[in-house]
Amino acid sequence: MSLAELTRLAIAMGASDAAIIDSREISAEDGLAGICKEPGCENYGLSPSCPPHVSGPAAFRQLQKKLAYAMAVRLVVPSESLLSGERREIMRLLHEIVAGVEQAAITMGYTQSQAFAGGSCKKIFCPDHVDCRRLSEYGECRHPLHCRPSMSGFGINVPELQKTCGWSGNLGAQKKAADADSMSWVAGLVLIG
Ligand code: SF4
Repeated sequence: MSLAELTRLAIAMGASDAAIIDSREISAEDGLAGICKEPGCENYGLSPSCPPHVSGPAAFRQLQKKLAYAMAVRLVVPSESLLSGERREIMRLLHEIVAGVEQAAITMGYTQSQAFAGGSCKKIFCPDHVDCRRLSEYGECRHPLHCRPSMSGFGINVPELQKTCGWSGNLGAQKKAADADSMSWVAGLVLIG
């Protein structure tokens, strides 16, 4: 399997777009990661996938030195769906795609590959549990095959990532033909190496 085949895998799993880029083109910014704490995110501290439990932008920049490639993934969806009960399923699919690509890359021999996604795994995978099992009981993650860290905690500049991939942030041209709903997107990332 080649890197191009990994992009085909992402598309086959449901991604709208997938692109291989040089990992050094990704911008991991301290200021963006700081937003999780101040002004703050409602999911701050709720799982090991979010600050203050993740290693943050500095560690991500170290990973960029070791892992040469990256795959960016995007799901384009009706904006309305992100404000509805569908949001959880969309975010879950995003995590499944990047985790699937990560595991395929590892099988190919890129053994240090690591996936990241948008959103908090506590909200996506464990909303019906009071606590994250890893944090509250030092136990196993309930969803180890699919749960991956949030890009926000590593300060990933996602709009810049989209530009690097040549993806338009203006999705007006991708409006659904059947109605006038606007479209939006969620993104994920796999460092490959
Ligand atoms: S147990 Fe749930 S909240 Fe904790 S890391 Fe796993 S998916 Fe995230």
